[in-house]
Amino acid sequence: MQIEIPLLRNFIGGDWIPSSSGEVIISRNPATGEEISRSQKSTVQDVRMAIEAAENSFNTTDWRYEPSRRADCLHSLVKKIRDHAESLSNLMTVESGKPIRVSRFEVARAADIIDYYSGLCRNVFGRATELSRQSLDLVVREPVGIVGIISPWNWPLVLLVRSMAPALAAGNTVVVKPASYTPAINIAFFQLLSTINEFDKGVVNCVTGPGEIVGSELATNNKVNMISFTGDTVTGKKIVQMSSNSIKKLSLELGGKSPSIIFADAQLDNAIKGCLSGAWLSCAGQVCYASTRLIVHRKIHAEFVRKFKDQISSLKVGNGLDETVDVGPIISETQLDDVLNYIETGKQEANLVIGGRRLTEGNLSKGFFVAPTIFDEVRQGSRIEQEEIFGPVVTVSPFETEEEAIQMANNTIYGLAGSVWTKDVDTAIRVAKQVRAGTVWVNSYSSIPPSMEYGGYKQSGIGRMLGLEGLHEFTEMKHIGLHISS
Ligand code: NAD
Repeated sequence: MQIEIPLLRNFIGGDWIPSSSGEVIISRNPATGEEISRSQKSTVQDVRMAIEAAENSFNTTDWRYEPSRRADCLHSLVKKIRDHAESLSNLMTVESGKPIRVSRFEVARAADIIDYYSGLCRNVFGRATELSRQSLDLVVREPVGIVGIISPWNWPLVLLVRSMAPALAAGNTVVVKPASYTPAINIAFFQLLSTINEFDKGVVNCVTGPGEIVGSELATNNKVNMISFTGDTVTGKKIVQMSSNSIKKLSLELGGKSPSIIFADAQLDNAIKGCLSGAWLSCAGQVCYASTRLIVHRKIHAEFVRKFKDQISSLKVGNGLDETVDVGPIISETQLDDVLNYIETGKQEANLVIGGRRLTEGNLSKGFFVAPTIFDEVRQGSRIEQEEIFGPVVTVSPFETEEEAIQMANNTIYGLAGSVWTKDVDTAIRVAKQVRAGTVWVNSYSSIPPSMEYGGYKQSGIGRMLGLEGLHEFTEMKHIGLHISS
């Protein structure tokens, strides 16, 4: 099947349906400004239609009772994605701007996550116990029901399937609201899914449109039993408020400001490589777990900054379709302005080492490009050290003692990820245990296997995605107490 991106429609109850608004949203390539797609600017009525389709499917089909069919469906989806990997990757790059090698990685990873959960469909287990001669007590896991999935643009496939695959594996039906910047890649994914006949109609639905309309309706609608949201912490707080009237189950994967602690005995070249890829190489710093706060021991601080700067000078910024490009554009003009404002603030708060400006030379003038930027001697508590910039900007702050490094690492509202760089295994474990974050890497960065739980402490989120717990998020537990007559 050829993936074509004409006028994109909503996928509701197994059919491709235009919005009742008659209006569209145009997505553009952030590297060139070219139009990529026109998707539906959906209304509350469209969302309600999708919720009804999901509810109807949950109540009237055997989807939730047939784990082996669910496994088959997910398995077929994996195959479809792998068969169309290159066209999906190209579309992802032109729509999100990320380098093509990163898009290829993302498409492969999305397939891998679905593959992992297809294997878990038949492993949704509860417990059984004997509490007396006359009883048998069971705890069973059941699907939550109708799950609303609201996803961001920066890893548009991985973050969609990270919620959708376990939700389906557990027997739920879903309504997806993709990010408004990246509807085409998500609709292309649903086009592939729609060719798998074993999916009951209405098990999976997708409605595009503004968060304030489509996302809000999902978060407030009484029939939606759970929201799995990935996005900004500010939006996450709105989801909590909006969903409170109907007391929905919530899974929230929110923002981050992840620290990397580099000790004096670290293998410096490895640490620099890790910080570089953790900060910039996947999505121009627009990554929730990006290693954006580098906390470096005073003894090696000057050498670290010098070598780090050298590495950054050699990064190629440009259109992600160019195979040699390391860093792509910022997603939108609004986000570009935010990043440039943070950079101006940084110039008042710290020492600019490199970067610090928009890039407009040659073809770069057509897109939203920012030079990879380092600020040094960044004061604790300053804005660029505390707030998620979501662009190619890192801060460096020196430390003297281990205790001070840990205090600095934990000194934000976030707790998504972090890393520790040292050759001393005791130091590594001691520090990793004290960093208040859902993931801590030691002498590496960015490895997120499908089988390992991922999520945030503090204001970085609620609950865990991936792994077995990522499946359990999408279940309710029921106690069934059996009385046995003698
Ligand atoms: P965002 O919060 O602006 O948007 C995320 C989704 O929410 C989009 O689909 C958007 O349309 C929708 N939305 C916006 N306003 C809404 C509202 N009022 N009601 C309901 N839905 C609404 O985030 P973004 O800019 O797309 O993504 C970047 C953010 O996501 C960053 O903060 C990043 O750290 C975070 N993120 C977190 C993770 C994680 O795993 N923790 C992963 C990726 C991104």
